[in-house]
Amino acid sequence: MTARAVFFSQRRGACPGLSTPMPTGDGLLVRLQPTGIIPLPAFIALCTAARRDGNGIIEVTGRGSIQIRGLSAESAPRFADSVAALGIAAADGVSILANPLTGLDPTEILDAGALAVDIRRAATRTGLGARLAPKVSVVVDGSGMLSLNDVAADVRLHAERVEHAVLLHVSVAGVGADATQLGALAPANGVEAVIRLLEVIARRGPVTRARDSLAAEGITPFRSAVADLLIAGGLPANAHRSSEAIGIHRLRDGSLACGIGLPFGHAEAAALERLAACAAAAGAASIGTAGRTLLIVGLADRTVPAFVHDAESLGFIVEAADPRRRVIACAGAPICASGQIATRALAPAVADAVARWPNATLIHVSGCAKGCAHAGKAALTVVGTPAGCALITEGSVSDASFAMVRPEELPAVVVRHVRESCREDSHV
Ligand code: SF4
Repeated sequence: MTARAVFFSQRRGACPGLSTPMPTGDGLLVRLQPTGIIPLPAFIALCTAARRDGNGIIEVTGRGSIQIRGLSAESAPRFADSVAALGIAAADGVSILANPLTGLDPTEILDAGALAVDIRRAATRTGLGARLAPKVSVVVDGSGMLSLNDVAADVRLHAERVEHAVLLHVSVAGVGADATQLGALAPANGVEAVIRLLEVIARRGPVTRARDSLAAEGITPFRSAVADLLIAGGLPANAHRSSEAIGIHRLRDGSLACGIGLPFGHAEAAALERLAACAAAAGAASIGTAGRTLLIVGLADRTVPAFVHDAESLGFIVEAADPRRRVIACAGAPICASGQIATRALAPAVADAVARWPNATLIHVSGCAKGCAHAGKAALTVVGTPAGCALITEGSVSDASFAMVRPEELPAVVVRHVRESCREDSHV
């Protein structure tokens, strides 16, 4: 018998935290958003608990959250107790995301982690979590090695050095490149600005996102909310730099972090336990998360090659150019109850199909029209429907499809599509 009740996440889009797991096709799912790096022993214990209490599948999302799948009403409270005892620092309430190596990164120009902590406290104090749509998020980018420009946010702060000072670009709704810019402010005003902008979003009710407020009322309410905080003249336009988490990153203390990718964003808990054991043997102390990537922290120059070899042998992604990274696949059927196609069973064959074509090609395989794994456009988007796979070119799940194929035809169709796209590009 369970020691206490489990409350399922019933609110649409709600965050399935430890105490409110979300029903899916393979049982209950919980999501942890780590707010810093996790000591290796705690990470190994988390994987062991996921194997014991869930179905052993762990996912790292595009926002660096860790999802544990296949829990039951009986095992979920036990899992929550185990994780609580591990003391893993994880965010609750409004999602405030800082750079994954904040505090360790010698190139960051602002301590994004500390600012995120202050914003989180202020959001809790003002009760914003209960008044905002569950998926409203804030990004604080300290301009370090691992940029957050490609992560969508409702409110974004991005540090920029101007002569001898550091200022914050503030923008709303979207990824770094297409968010609506409001201007620049001093870092000391960062918390106040974010809270005021979140209040603008909250005014329209608990289902509204920043893009909805923008569409309904334009930029004026946002700009008015922070007008007295903005610096006259503003800043030059943001650089919108992208970055690569897979690979080696030199840290402030001279040690190294190594980015290891999870194929299609998921792995068996047992494989992750083995990866963590290899990391410990190589001298690492902790592990962080970035988009679908684990960052092994504390390696030395002499131990990295053997560790990377071990990670590759376990099936993890160690090269940025690995074709599996060009395929985004959600959980799909039979894992997710809404899935119409077996996305993860199809994904390896799709990755093989794109392997010989240029790196730029991105294929999104979505189990249904919800498109959980990728909100943006892709060269080819595949959407599961009761009639098969709907194909959308240079668009997203919400765009019109140009063809419908059976799942077993998909790899051949992808080869044909990418080959034709490449031919067209070469004629431009
Ligand atoms: S896109 Fe559809 S099938 Fe895929 S995880 Fe989301 S709800 Fe499930």
